[in-house]
Formats: sequence, structure tokens, C-alpha cells
Amino acid sequence: MSSTLSYVTPTADSPWGTYLMQVDRVVPYLGPLARWVETLKRPKRALIVDIPIELDNGEVAHFEGYRVQHNLSRGPGKGGVRYHPDVNLEEVMALAAWMSIKNAAVNLPYGGAKGGIRVDPSKLSHKELERMTRRYTSEIGIIIGPQRDIPAPDVNTNPQVMAWMMDTYSMNTGSAATGVVTGKPIHLGGSLGRVKATGRGVFVTGREAARRINLELDGARVAVQGFGNVGSAAAELFGQAGARIVAAQDHTGTICNSKGFDLADITAHVRATGGVGGFKGAEPMATEDFWDVDCDILIPAALEGQITAARANRIKAKLVLEGANGPTVPSADDIMAERGILVVPDVICNAGGVTVSYFEWVQDFSSFFWTEDEINLRLDKIMIGALKKIWDTADRHRITLRTATFAVACERILTARQERGLYP
Ligand code: NAD
Repeated sequence: MSSTLSYVTPTADSPWGTYLMQVDRVVPYLGPLARWVETLKRPKRALIVDIPIELDNGEVAHFEGYRVQHNLSRGPGKGGVRYHPDVNLEEVMALAAWMSIKNAAVNLPYGGAKGGIRVDPSKLSHKELERMTRRYTSEIGIIIGPQRDIPAPDVNTNPQVMAWMMDTYSMNTGSAATGVVTGKPIHLGGSLGRVKATGRGVFVTGREAARRINLELDGARVAVQGFGNVGSAAAELFGQAGARIVAAQDHTGTICNSKGFDLADITAHVRATGGVGGFKGAEPMATEDFWDVDCDILIPAALEGQITAARANRIKAKLVLEGANGPTVPSADDIMAERGILVVPDVICNAGGVTVSYFEWVQDFSSFFWTEDEINLRLDKIMIGALKKIWDTADRHRITLRTATFAVACERILTARQERGLYP
């Protein structure tokens, strides 16, 4: 017997609604494990916290924070923390659930979790941001920990935020708990290669997918939505492989140049101004026109729900690499499949970040650190191996890479669920 959750009202295209549809599509491939599928349709635990802080002007502001642990059958929770004005419980639930799938898809010994604060961090001073982060960490401190749930960076959070989280948790527990978060600065037990790991994973899976559809990377035209941690690192690697980045969009604007951007110049511009808008080496274009750009590869690397059914009909790319989590709604997925556009889904495409987070966590426990070459080699091996297994599954059942990734991941999660049995 199952029931819908009383505390969220998902729609067909909302993040949790999208995730539920993706789970429903995998059920026919789960065999007897399907009996346990309801476990994936609800989070194990969802914590909502109030975060009061004193602003620099003496006023008190309250922010809403979340930490959701979706499934812990295979190990401690793992997943990022997002600071964004649109963060809400439903979104964090979906992001946590996609972490369960992703961690299982690359076979990391983790469950899935995610956190966030409903805030526009650009409106806070550095000190206010620190106070908010520390209070949030204290509030969720009752459920996180190196063996329980390990946060990491996501949209608008970075190594500095992770350093504050690590310090706050360590002060509260009287320890130096480097393993409580990943994506930390290198001096605090961070890992070489972590900052660019997600973009690297997008590139590695993209290169494999391009090979399978005979798409030459040298000279390929790439459009990137989101030029933050993930989008910029992926763009850099595609650029090094000879591809041209012909369009980019972020919260500051949309730009294009059919000859390709100078990547060093655009990176410097984004660093100096906070976004791609106003970049001199390209033409500005209307926001919605981004989806009509002539390109071979499209990399959504911003937020969820960006590829709607209407936009899916306009996309010119042959290959879509989901750097972002949940960028495609189910109806758009169907349209792209019908149109022969190959989609490498988020739950494998952007798994490079959590994979190197896993390396960071392992290094923190052993207090022995690897070189960047070792990190990248291990990352590439895991990503290529995981993608191959997923591709074999897709070929065997004649299903999309997304459903195949869910099939591989759900089998692992539900087998663990079954072997552990129900407590008590
Ligand atoms: P970031 O904060 O570094 O960058 C976010 C980017 O999205 C920025 O360029 C921002 O301008 C852009 N953006 C925001 N709103 C937008 C809008 N309405 N339209 C267009 N662009 C917009 O974040 P990030 O870490 O690069 O994360 C991007 C995506 O990748 C998210 O979906 C995140 O969950 C996912 N992801 C991140 C990691 C990681 O390691 N950081 C790992 C896996 C997945």
C-alpha cells in the first residue's frame, strides 16, 4: 500500500514530479525488486530549520533552510548545499533523490542527500554569509557527520562555505572533522581536482557519447547554459579538445559567436563581472533565442526544468550533456528521444563532482593525499566504466540512457534495501 506525501504537491514538470515519473519509468526493469520501489518515492528524512542571523545593520533576518536525506541504504548521505532564492522543500527532495540515483549509478558507497537555504546570497555581506552558514550548519548538525551525511558545494556555495561548515561542525563536536564536508579548500583536507571534477565528468561522458554517434569533437560547436563551476570547467575541456563554444547563457545574459569564444578572455570576464553578460568577444542575444542556436552539443549547467517540451522541439544539438541536475522535464525527454537527440542524463553526466568528493572523503580518513593526476585518472576510469554499464543496459532493454541509469542505480539501492531488511 502506498500513499502520496502530504507535504508536497508536485506537478508533471516540477522537480519532485519529474523524479517520480523517472522512477515510474524504471519499474518494468526492476523484476522482483519492484516490490521495494515505494522506498524511492519518499525521502527517509526531511529537516526544515529556521536560520536567524543578525545583519550588519543590526536587524534580525530569518532564512529557511533544509537538509533532506532521501535514502541511506547504501551508506551515509551525500549531496550538496544550494543557496538560492527559489530553494524549497520539493526542490531539495528531488535533488536529494537524484543524489541517491547518481551515487548508486557510479557505485559510490553513499546514499543521497541535499540541502539548501532559501536566500539570495548576493544580497548578503561576506560576514552575513558566514553567520548564516554557521547557524545553518549548527541547525542541521543533528543529522550530518562524516559517517552520517556529508554536504558539498552546489549552486552559489563554494570552498569557503565548506570551510565555515567544517569549522562550525568541528567546534560543536570538539574535533577536527575534516570528513564532514567535501569541496573544502586544499589546506583543510580538500582534494586536488575537486573544483573542476564535475565539469571534467561532463567532458569525459560527453567525449564517450560523441564517439558513439560519430561526432568529432575537434571543430564541434558547443552551447552552454550556466557558466559557473560546472559549465565553465566543461567548456574549458571541450575547448582544449578543439570544440568551439559558440553560445553561453547565465543569469546576467545570453551571448553568441559562431567562431567560438576565446575561453581565457571569457573566463577573465566572468571572474571580473560575475557573469557572461557584456562580454566583448561575442554578440548579445535574446534569452529565449538560446534554444535555437546552431550547435552540435548543448550543455545545460544551470538549474532544473530548463529544457521544456517547447524548447526541446527547437534544440539543434545532436547531443545534450546534463551538467545541471534535473534540467529536462519528462515531456521534453520524450521529444528529444523521438527527434534522435542523444541525452546523457544528469545522474551519470555530472557524477564527476561527487566521485572526487568521495576521493576527498577517503583521503581525509586516511590522511594521505593523492596527486591531481591520480585523481583525474581514477575519475576517468570510474566515469567511463559506469557509462559503459549504463550503455549496455540501455542497449539490452532498448531504453534511454536516463532509464538505463535509473535501472542500474535502483537495482543497487533496492538490493541493499532488501538485504538489510526492514527495521525492527
Ligand atoms: P554555480 O553557482 O557555480 O553556477 C550556476 C550557474 O547558473 C551560474 O553561471 C548562473 O549564472 C547560472 N544561472 C543561474 N540562474 C540562471 C538562469 N535563470 N538562467 C541561466 N543561467 C542561470 O553552480 P554550479 O555548481 O556550477 O551548479 C550548476 C548546476 O550543476 C546545478 O544544477 C547543480 O546542482 C549542478 N551540479 C553541480 C555540481 C558541483 O560540483 N558544483 C555537481 C553536480 C551537479
